[in-house]
Amino acid sequence: VPVIGVLALQGDVREHVAALAGAGARATAVRRPEELDAVDGLVIPGGESTTISKLADIFGMREPVDKRIAAGMPVYGSCAGMIMLATEVLDGRPDQRGFDGIAMTVRRNAFGRQVDSFEAPVEITGVGGGPFHAVFIRAPWVERVGAGVEVLGTVADGPAAGRVVAVRQGNLLATSFHPELTGDLRLHAYFVDLVRAAA
Ligand code: GLN
Repeated sequence: VPVIGVLALQGDVREHVAALAGAGARATAVRRPEELDAVDGLVIPGGESTTISKLADIFGMREPVDKRIAAGMPVYGSCAGMIMLATEVLDGRPDQRGFDGIAMTVRRNAFGRQVDSFEAPVEITGVGGGPFHAVFIRAPWVERVGAGVEVLGTVADGPAAGRVVAVRQGNLLATSFHPELTGDLRLHAYFVDLVRAAA
């Protein structure tokens, strides 16, 4: 059984722990470098990327996470976690910094201030069973992807139709939306499979 950590600096950690357990992993909160050493994969939850960035430095987690990413550890980032996995952030705070993650540019709070949160169907390449009922909360979208980044999902309809909201680069996976909030375990199961394949 793969052991998957949830980066527990800030954000909806418990929901991801529950979803990972439901998807067949042993899930554990990760706050310190020693705890990171003990996991086969990592989830970066939704929350507030500026806070997660600050706390990553305070808890001494930045370099250990970057090293594990360079060594091929699978990481899944949801919403703020997607921002933490982006090499470039638009509308970020000047001092916020992500991990050495996916070659992509994301825009924070991209869907607009008047629509803080919304829901839309999103089909994910490689995940069967129909579109996700995707929940977006002050979510980022992906504006540009670099070489080697695969677009896995775009918003199907509504004013944001066509926007890129799910990507993968090697063992790194990111979504703008929060599958941990809807009880749909397919994306966590996809990530658990990825961790199993990488082990
Ligand atoms: N707007 C948040 C940020 O910039 C992300 C929101 C979320 O994770 N639900 O980090």
